[in-house]
Amino acid sequence: MSLKEQYPVKLYNTLTKKKEEFKSIHKDKVGMYVCGPTVYSDVHLGNVRTFLCFDIVYRYLTYLGYQVRYVRNITDVGHLENDADEGEDKISKKARLEELEPMEIVQRYTKGFHEVLSQFNFWPPSIEPSATGHIVEQIELVQDLLDKGLAYETNGSVYFDVTKYDKQYNYGKLSGRNIEELMESGRDLDSQDEKRNKVDFALWKKASTSHIMRWSSPWGPGFPGWHLECTVMSTKYLGETFDIHGGGMDLVFPHHECEIAQSCGSRGKDPVNYWMHSNMLTVNGQKMSKSLGNSFLPGQLFSGDHDLLDRGYGPMVVRFFMLQSHYSSTLDFSNEALGAAERGYKRLMEGIKVSRDLVYEPAEKSEGFEVRVKNMIDQLFSNLSDDFNTAKGLAALFEITTLMNNFKVGNEKPGVLSQETFNALIRHYHGFVYDVLGLKEEDESSNQLVDGVIDILIKLRQDAKAGKNYALSDKIRDDLKEIGVILKDGKGGTEYSLN
Ligand code: AMP
Ligand code: ZN
Repeated sequence: MSLKEQYPVKLYNTLTKKKEEFKSIHKDKVGMYVCGPTVYSDVHLGNVRTFLCFDIVYRYLTYLGYQVRYVRNITDVGHLENDADEGEDKISKKARLEELEPMEIVQRYTKGFHEVLSQFNFWPPSIEPSATGHIVEQIELVQDLLDKGLAYETNGSVYFDVTKYDKQYNYGKLSGRNIEELMESGRDLDSQDEKRNKVDFALWKKASTSHIMRWSSPWGPGFPGWHLECTVMSTKYLGETFDIHGGGMDLVFPHHECEIAQSCGSRGKDPVNYWMHSNMLTVNGQKMSKSLGNSFLPGQLFSGDHDLLDRGYGPMVVRFFMLQSHYSSTLDFSNEALGAAERGYKRLMEGIKVSRDLVYEPAEKSEGFEVRVKNMIDQLFSNLSDDFNTAKGLAALFEITTLMNNFKVGNEKPGVLSQETFNALIRHYHGFVYDVLGLKEEDESSNQLVDGVIDILIKLRQDAKAGKNYALSDKIRDDLKEIGVILKDGKGGTEYSLN
């Protein structure tokens, strides 16, 4: 039996509001689309959490033996400041403010995004298409919806006719919103007079003469609406119906609801079998977001250079911290939680180190022990197959870590297990830590270098003191303090801490 048959994946589907057994459309293959970043600013830690959730889905399905095509787009046009089709395009605005070409903004932040994800050890997607690279396909979809009578043109812009669509299909099936409520609660906005109803959304927006990002279209110069790109690119690379579509929970409405409407309206069928949404990273209970001013960048987290941080934490500690909670719960950031994660991460990596040095020497077998260890391996898979529960997966890894420590001190012997079970234990212990959870040893070499250099300075300062050159010894102490290195003289010599 293959791993995927032995441990069938169950996942919570936002569309049906149920945990369901995952069945891929094509045997052994999975198509997954995840909404990528809008590249007008640096990614913050909240964004990282969402992409981590899908990095785990990608890694675990691959570990089970699926061939996964993972498409994650880059939004480089069309995402307006306000979700209700109002305000400036985020990228155009940044380009205007910084007096740069929009594509300079896009390049800068796409590069930054890739750097951050590689620091956190993410697997790159199979395809990373951009909205501006698919303008032709987006225009075709707008035309198709116009031809089907589900869209209308006003003054060079094209809007999706939600009320008309709702008569034939069910608008709101993903988010649970209904059109009457939306009609009552929606705000009246400037472009309201162009729309037949305020629930309608833009498929194509006319570009004013000052608008930098513009393309020719049958309706005049303009740019695509935000929801269009994901419908077009997912269809192009994964087909009209594909397996998994993901994103942060804040994208359920309007973005994903509108994606469904566009696909159903154009092709008469649902685009996605399983919708997955990850919950938010919060700070003191509030969503981490740039506009609320409570976000911090990964670089600040590594260096500790932020008011909310007591000190810096490495990327693997942060990754571990995020994996300790299930993706569907909110995760609140705190120094205490990161400190605890650091201890947990170090314990796990110690266990890995121990496992590498173990020697298998056949000994008298114990059926009970054999069964216990097989259960431990089983737990790894069962937990991850249960809606990608990394929190429980880590708990199972810690059981194995305790066993590794027992092997180390001689309380248990590897040879009591069959060779086959011992090999499977080590293979999956490593497999889950490295391949499934994507953890790795933090780069210790730079820490060692800093330690070495500071030790040399401490020694120089002692020599200066011994030679009564107090001006020099004080200067060494003060200069180090200025860069955040605090020297503490004690009975056992001088130690340092990083401020
Ligand atoms: P954006 O670049 O704003 O389109 O966001 C990229 C992704 O990050 C989307 O899937 C958002 O849902 C997600 N996201 C934004 N803020 C947070 C947060 N505080 N916690 C988790 N995910 C977030
Ligand atoms: Zn999207």
